[in-house]
Amino acid sequence: MKFNLLIEIMKVLIADDDKVLRMLMERQLQGWGFEVITAQDGEEAFKILTTESEPPRMLILDWEMPNLDGIGLCRKIRALESNDPPYIVLVTAHSDQEHLATALQAGANDYISKPTKAVELRARLGVGLRTLELQNRLNIANEMLAYKAEHDELTGLQNRASLIEHLDNEIERTKRTGEPLALAICDIDFFKRVNDTYGHPVGDRVLKEFAERMKDTFRPYDLVSRYGGEEFVVCCTSLESEPESIFERFRGAIESTPFLDKDLSLGITVSIGIATFDGISTMATKEIMLGLISDSDKALYAAKNSGRNQVVMYQPNQHTECEQPEEMLNDGQIC
Ligand SMILES: [Mg+2]
Repeated sequence: MKFNLLIEIMKVLIADDDKVLRMLMERQLQGWGFEVITAQDGEEAFKILTTESEPPRMLILDWEMPNLDGIGLCRKIRALESNDPPYIVLVTAHSDQEHLATALQAGANDYISKPTKAVELRARLGVGLRTLELQNRLNIANEMLAYKAEHDELTGLQNRASLIEHLDNEIERTKRTGEPLALAICDIDFFKRVNDTYGHPVGDRVLKEFAERMKDTFRPYDLVSRYGGEEFVVCCTSLESEPESIFERFRGAIESTPFLDKDLSLGITVSIGIATFDGISTMATKEIMLGLISDSDKALYAAKNSGRNQVVMYQPNQHTECEQPEEMLNDGQIC
Protein backbone atom coordinates (compact mmCIF):
# COMPACT_ATOMS: atom_id res chain seq x y z
CA MET A 1 0.00 0.00 0.00
CA LYS A 2 1.14 3.51 -0.73
CA PHE A 3 0.13 4.94 2.63
CA ASN A 4 1.93 3.85 5.76
CA LEU A 5 0.52 4.73 9.11
CA LEU A 6 2.90 5.79 11.82
CA ILE A 7 6.29 5.57 10.12
CA GLU A 8 5.84 8.68 7.97
CA ILE A 9 3.78 10.49 10.57
CA MET A 10 6.52 10.26 13.17
CA LYS A 11 8.69 12.53 11.04
CA VAL A 12 8.17 16.17 12.06
CA LEU A 13 9.43 19.32 10.41
CA ILE A 14 10.22 22.32 12.61
CA ALA A 15 10.68 25.61 10.74
CA ASP A 16 11.88 28.49 12.92
CA ASP A 17 14.44 31.21 12.31
CA ASP A 18 15.37 31.30 16.02
CA LYS A 19 18.17 28.77 16.31
CA VAL A 20 17.85 28.34 20.09
CA LEU A 21 14.07 27.79 20.02
CA ARG A 22 14.48 25.42 17.09
CA MET A 23 17.06 23.30 18.91
CA LEU A 24 15.04 23.25 22.15
CA MET A 25 11.93 22.04 20.35
CA GLU A 26 13.95 19.54 18.33
CA ARG A 27 15.33 17.95 21.51
CA GLN A 28 11.89 17.95 23.10
CA LEU A 29 10.31 16.16 20.14
CA GLN A 30 13.17 13.70 19.82
CA GLY A 31 12.61 12.89 23.50
CA TRP A 32 9.00 12.02 22.63
CA GLY A 33 10.15 9.65 19.88
CA PHE A 34 9.70 11.83 16.79
CA GLU A 35 12.20 11.98 13.96
CA VAL A 36 12.89 15.69 13.50
CA ILE A 37 13.93 17.68 10.45
CA THR A 38 14.62 21.40 10.88
CA ALA A 39 14.54 24.42 8.56
CA GLN A 40 15.54 27.99 9.30
CA ASP A 41 12.94 29.69 7.12
CA GLY A 42 9.86 28.99 5.01
CA GLU A 43 11.75 28.60 1.77
CA GLU A 44 14.02 25.91 3.15
CA ALA A 45 10.98 24.14 4.66
CA PHE A 46 9.11 24.26 1.33
CA LYS A 47 12.12 22.81 -0.46
CA ILE A 48 12.26 19.90 2.00
CA LEU A 49 8.54 19.24 1.56
CA THR A 50 8.68 19.24 -2.22
CA THR A 51 11.96 17.36 -2.80
CA GLU A 52 12.14 14.66 -0.11
CA SER A 53 10.89 11.26 -1.26
CA GLU A 54 9.02 10.81 2.02
CA PRO A 55 8.48 14.32 3.32
CA PRO A 56 7.36 14.93 6.91
CA ARG A 57 3.60 15.17 7.30
CA MET A 58 3.55 16.92 10.66
CA LEU A 59 4.77 20.51 10.45
CA ILE A 60 5.45 23.02 13.23
CA LEU A 61 5.91 26.41 11.59
CA ASP A 62 6.96 29.67 13.15
CA TRP A 63 4.83 32.61 11.95
CA GLU A 64 7.62 35.19 11.78
CA MET A 65 10.46 34.01 9.52
CA PRO A 66 12.58 35.75 6.87
CA ASN A 67 12.19 35.00 3.13
CA LEU A 68 8.93 33.09 3.47
CA ASP A 69 6.94 33.34 6.71
CA GLY A 70 4.71 30.68 8.26
CA ILE A 71 1.51 32.09 6.75
CA GLY A 72 3.02 32.29 3.25
CA LEU A 73 4.37 28.76 3.62
CA CYS A 74 0.94 27.48 4.71
CA ARG A 75 -0.67 28.98 1.59
CA LYS A 76 2.02 27.50 -0.69
CA ILE A 77 1.60 24.04 0.85
CA ARG A 78 -2.19 24.11 0.55
CA ALA A 79 -1.93 25.27 -3.07
CA LEU A 80 -0.22 21.93 -3.86
CA GLU A 81 -3.64 20.23 -3.52
CA SER A 82 -2.22 16.92 -2.35
CA ASN A 83 -4.60 14.13 -1.39
CA ASP A 84 -2.24 13.45 1.47
CA PRO A 85 -1.74 16.95 2.93
CA PRO A 86 0.45 17.58 5.99
CA TYR A 87 -0.88 18.62 9.37
CA ILE A 88 0.26 22.15 10.17
CA VAL A 89 0.66 23.71 13.59
CA LEU A 90 1.49 27.42 13.44
CA VAL A 91 3.52 28.87 16.31
CA THR A 92 3.35 32.59 17.10
CA ALA A 93 3.59 35.25 19.77
CA HIS A 94 0.32 36.72 18.46
CA SER A 95 -2.53 35.27 20.44
CA ASP A 96 -5.43 37.54 19.39
CA GLN A 97 -8.42 36.17 17.48
CA GLU A 98 -7.63 38.00 14.28
CA HIS A 99 -4.25 36.30 13.99
CA LEU A 100 -5.84 32.99 14.85
CA ALA A 101 -8.40 33.47 12.05
CA THR A 102 -5.65 34.45 9.58
CA ALA A 103 -3.64 31.33 10.44
CA LEU A 104 -6.61 28.98 10.00
CA GLN A 105 -7.69 30.66 6.77
CA ALA A 106 -4.16 30.26 5.38
CA GLY A 107 -4.48 26.51 5.90
CA ALA A 108 -3.07 25.84 9.37
CA ASN A 109 -4.78 23.00 11.22
CA ASP A 110 -3.86 24.32 14.64
CA TYR A 111 -2.30 27.29 16.35
CA ILE A 112 -0.10 27.47 19.44
CA SER A 113 1.22 30.51 21.31
CA LYS A 114 4.83 31.24 22.19
CA PRO A 115 6.37 30.42 24.53
CA THR A 116 5.13 26.90 23.89
CA LYS A 117 4.36 24.75 26.91
CA ALA A 118 5.54 21.13 26.63
CA VAL A 119 2.28 19.66 27.87
CA GLU A 120 0.21 21.69 25.38
CA LEU A 121 2.55 21.04 22.44
CA ARG A 122 2.48 17.31 23.10
CA ALA A 123 -1.31 17.28 23.36
CA ARG A 124 -1.70 19.22 20.11
CA LEU A 125 0.73 16.91 18.29
CA GLY A 126 -1.42 14.03 19.56
CA VAL A 127 -4.47 15.59 17.89
CA GLY A 128 -2.43 15.97 14.72
CA LEU A 129 -1.35 12.32 14.77
CA ARG A 130 -4.94 11.17 15.17
CA THR A 131 -6.03 13.39 12.27
CA LEU A 132 -3.24 12.11 10.03
CA GLU A 133 -4.02 8.54 10.92
CA LEU A 134 -7.69 9.02 9.99
CA GLN A 135 -6.61 10.68 6.76
CA ASN A 136 -4.36 7.71 6.01
CA ARG A 137 -7.13 5.22 6.67
CA LEU A 138 -9.41 7.17 4.34
CA ASN A 139 -6.73 7.21 1.62
CA ILE A 140 -6.19 3.47 1.98
CA ALA A 141 -9.95 2.83 1.78
CA ASN A 142 -10.20 5.02 -1.32
CA GLU A 143 -7.28 3.23 -2.96
CA MET A 144 -8.89 -0.13 -2.25
CA LEU A 145 -12.20 1.04 -3.71
CA ALA A 146 -10.47 2.37 -6.81
CA TYR A 147 -8.59 -0.94 -7.16
CA LYS A 148 -11.77 -3.00 -6.75
CA ALA A 149 -13.61 -0.87 -9.32
CA GLU A 150 -10.98 -1.72 -11.95
CA HIS A 151 -10.00 -5.29 -11.17
CA ASP A 152 -11.55 -8.72 -11.29
CA GLU A 153 -11.76 -10.04 -7.75
CA LEU A 154 -10.83 -13.66 -8.52
CA THR A 155 -7.88 -13.21 -10.86
CA GLY A 156 -6.67 -9.68 -10.06
CA LEU A 157 -6.70 -8.86 -13.79
CA GLN A 158 -8.36 -5.71 -15.08
CA ASN A 159 -12.11 -6.11 -15.37
CA ARG A 160 -14.30 -5.40 -18.38
CA ALA A 161 -15.04 -1.78 -17.43
CA SER A 162 -11.35 -1.03 -17.01
CA LEU A 163 -10.53 -2.75 -20.33
CA ILE A 164 -13.09 -0.61 -22.17
CA GLU A 165 -11.66 2.56 -20.66
CA HIS A 166 -8.05 1.67 -21.50
CA LEU A 167 -8.94 0.29 -24.92
CA ASP A 168 -10.41 3.66 -25.76
CA ASN A 169 -7.00 5.27 -25.10
CA GLU A 170 -5.13 2.60 -27.06
CA ILE A 171 -7.38 3.05 -30.11
CA GLU A 172 -6.91 6.83 -29.90
CA ARG A 173 -3.15 6.28 -29.77
CA THR A 174 -3.21 3.96 -32.79
CA LYS A 175 -5.26 6.53 -34.72
CA ARG A 176 -2.60 9.11 -33.92
CA THR A 177 0.53 7.04 -34.48
CA GLY A 178 -0.60 4.40 -36.99
CA GLU A 179 1.06 1.76 -34.81
CA PRO A 180 -1.18 -1.31 -35.15
CA LEU A 181 -2.92 -3.00 -32.25
CA ALA A 182 -4.28 -6.51 -31.89
CA LEU A 183 -7.26 -7.46 -29.79
CA ALA A 184 -7.65 -11.12 -28.84
CA ILE A 185 -10.42 -12.94 -27.03
CA CYS A 186 -9.10 -16.06 -25.32
CA ASP A 187 -11.75 -18.54 -24.21
CA ILE A 188 -10.90 -21.66 -22.21
CA ASP A 189 -12.30 -24.73 -24.00
CA PHE A 190 -14.90 -26.87 -22.26
CA PHE A 191 -14.57 -24.94 -19.04
CA LYS A 192 -18.00 -25.96 -17.84
CA ARG A 193 -16.75 -29.55 -17.74
CA VAL A 194 -14.07 -28.54 -15.24
CA ASN A 195 -16.66 -26.96 -12.97
CA ASP A 196 -19.13 -29.83 -13.39
CA THR A 197 -16.56 -32.59 -12.92
CA TYR A 198 -14.29 -31.18 -10.21
CA GLY A 199 -16.41 -28.42 -8.65
CA HIS A 200 -16.26 -24.64 -8.75
CA PRO A 201 -13.28 -24.25 -6.35
CA VAL A 202 -11.13 -26.19 -8.82
CA GLY A 203 -12.62 -24.17 -11.70
CA ASP A 204 -11.69 -20.97 -9.86
CA ARG A 205 -8.14 -22.16 -9.36
CA VAL A 206 -7.86 -22.95 -13.08
CA LEU A 207 -9.06 -19.41 -13.89
CA LYS A 208 -6.51 -17.96 -11.46
CA GLU A 209 -3.66 -19.97 -12.90
CA PHE A 210 -4.75 -19.15 -16.42
CA ALA A 211 -4.64 -15.46 -15.46
CA GLU A 212 -1.16 -15.92 -13.92
CA ARG A 213 0.09 -17.51 -17.12
CA MET A 214 -1.34 -14.61 -19.10
CA LYS A 215 0.50 -12.13 -16.85
CA ASP A 216 3.73 -14.09 -17.34
CA THR A 217 3.31 -14.35 -21.10
CA PHE A 218 2.26 -10.85 -22.08
CA ARG A 219 4.23 -7.67 -21.53
CA PRO A 220 3.44 -5.27 -18.68
CA TYR A 221 2.07 -2.69 -21.13
CA ASP A 222 -0.31 -5.12 -22.84
CA LEU A 223 -3.87 -4.88 -21.57
CA VAL A 224 -4.82 -8.20 -20.06
CA SER A 225 -8.32 -8.50 -18.67
CA ARG A 226 -10.97 -10.96 -17.60
CA TYR A 227 -13.90 -10.17 -19.83
CA GLY A 228 -16.30 -12.48 -18.03
CA GLY A 229 -16.57 -16.17 -17.09
CA GLU A 230 -13.77 -18.06 -18.81
CA GLU A 231 -13.27 -15.33 -21.42
CA PHE A 232 -10.17 -13.15 -21.33
CA VAL A 233 -9.27 -10.24 -23.57
CA VAL A 234 -5.77 -9.09 -24.44
CA CYS A 235 -4.88 -5.94 -26.32
CA CYS A 236 -1.30 -5.76 -27.62
CA THR A 237 0.35 -2.70 -29.09
CA SER A 238 3.97 -2.15 -30.18
CA LEU A 239 3.83 -5.58 -31.78
CA GLU A 240 7.20 -7.28 -32.03
CA SER A 241 5.90 -10.07 -34.25
CA GLU A 242 2.72 -11.09 -36.07
CA PRO A 243 -0.21 -11.25 -33.61
CA GLU A 244 -1.08 -14.73 -34.79
CA SER A 245 2.35 -16.07 -33.78
CA ILE A 246 2.24 -14.24 -30.40
CA PHE A 247 -1.07 -15.89 -29.51
CA GLU A 248 -0.12 -19.19 -31.08
CA ARG A 249 2.82 -19.37 -28.65
CA PHE A 250 0.43 -18.67 -25.77
CA ARG A 251 -2.06 -21.27 -26.98
CA GLY A 252 0.71 -23.87 -27.31
CA ALA A 253 2.04 -23.12 -23.82
CA ILE A 254 -1.42 -23.58 -22.30
CA GLU A 255 -1.89 -26.89 -24.09
CA SER A 256 1.53 -28.30 -23.29
CA THR A 257 1.61 -27.58 -19.55
CA PRO A 258 -1.16 -29.22 -17.52
CA PHE A 259 -2.86 -27.26 -14.76
CA LEU A 260 -2.01 -28.84 -11.43
CA ASP A 261 -4.33 -28.78 -8.47
CA LYS A 262 -3.32 -30.95 -5.50
CA ASP A 263 -3.28 -34.45 -7.01
CA LEU A 264 -5.15 -33.38 -10.15
CA SER A 265 -3.49 -32.73 -13.47
CA LEU A 266 -5.84 -31.01 -15.92
CA GLY A 267 -5.15 -30.66 -19.59
CA ILE A 268 -6.58 -27.30 -20.59
CA THR A 269 -6.81 -25.77 -24.04
CA VAL A 270 -7.80 -22.33 -25.25
CA SER A 271 -9.43 -20.98 -28.39
CA ILE A 272 -8.40 -17.50 -29.50
CA GLY A 273 -9.95 -15.03 -31.93
CA ILE A 274 -7.94 -11.98 -33.02
CA ALA A 275 -8.84 -8.73 -34.77
CA THR A 276 -6.42 -5.95 -35.62
CA PHE A 277 -6.59 -2.20 -36.15
CA ASP A 278 -4.02 -0.21 -38.14
CA GLY A 279 -5.22 3.28 -37.24
CA ILE A 280 -6.86 4.00 -40.57
CA SER A 281 -10.53 4.70 -39.97
CA THR A 282 -12.95 7.59 -40.05
CA MET A 283 -15.20 5.94 -37.48
CA ALA A 284 -15.58 7.15 -33.92
CA THR A 285 -13.34 5.45 -31.35
CA LYS A 286 -16.31 3.77 -29.65
CA GLU A 287 -17.45 2.25 -32.94
CA ILE A 288 -13.94 1.02 -33.72
CA MET A 289 -13.79 -0.59 -30.28
CA LEU A 290 -17.14 -2.33 -30.66
CA GLY A 291 -16.08 -3.46 -34.14
CA LEU A 292 -12.81 -4.93 -32.81
CA ILE A 293 -14.59 -6.80 -30.04
CA SER A 294 -17.25 -8.08 -32.42
CA ASP A 295 -14.67 -9.13 -35.06
CA SER A 296 -12.46 -10.96 -32.56
CA ASP A 297 -15.59 -12.64 -31.23
CA LYS A 298 -16.46 -13.85 -34.74
CA ALA A 299 -12.91 -15.18 -35.13
CA LEU A 300 -13.27 -16.92 -31.76
CA TYR A 301 -16.51 -18.58 -32.90
CA ALA A 302 -14.70 -19.76 -36.00
CA ALA A 303 -11.93 -21.24 -33.81
CA LYS A 304 -14.54 -23.03 -31.69
CA ASN A 305 -16.39 -24.26 -34.79
CA SER A 306 -13.19 -25.60 -36.32
CA GLY A 307 -12.45 -27.88 -33.38
CA ARG A 308 -11.19 -25.48 -30.67
CA ASN A 309 -7.62 -25.24 -29.34
CA GLN A 310 -6.60 -22.91 -32.13
CA VAL A 311 -5.94 -19.31 -33.07
CA VAL A 312 -8.01 -17.62 -35.77
CA MET A 313 -7.41 -14.18 -37.22
CA TYR A 314 -10.51 -12.26 -38.25
CA GLN A 315 -10.88 -12.05 -42.03
CA PRO A 316 -13.68 -9.69 -43.12
CA ASN A 317 -15.09 -11.97 -45.82
CA GLN A 318 -14.77 -15.28 -44.04
CA HIS A 319 -16.59 -14.76 -40.78
CA THR A 320 -19.78 -13.07 -41.76
CA GLU A 321 -21.80 -16.26 -41.83
CA CYS A 322 -20.27 -17.90 -38.77
CA GLU A 323 -22.67 -19.62 -36.47
CA GLN A 324 -22.20 -19.57 -32.74
CA PRO A 325 -21.01 -22.97 -31.62
CA GLU A 326 -23.38 -24.65 -29.27
CA GLU A 327 -21.07 -24.37 -26.29
CA MET A 328 -21.11 -20.57 -26.44
CA LEU A 329 -24.83 -20.14 -26.46
CA ASN A 330 -26.76 -20.07 -23.26
CA ASP A 331 -24.72 -17.48 -21.29
CA GLY A 332 -21.37 -18.90 -22.22
CA GLN A 333 -22.13 -22.27 -20.66
CA ILE A 334 -19.59 -24.45 -22.34
CA CYS A 335 -20.37 -28.12 -22.41
MG1 LIG B 1 10.59 33.78 14.12
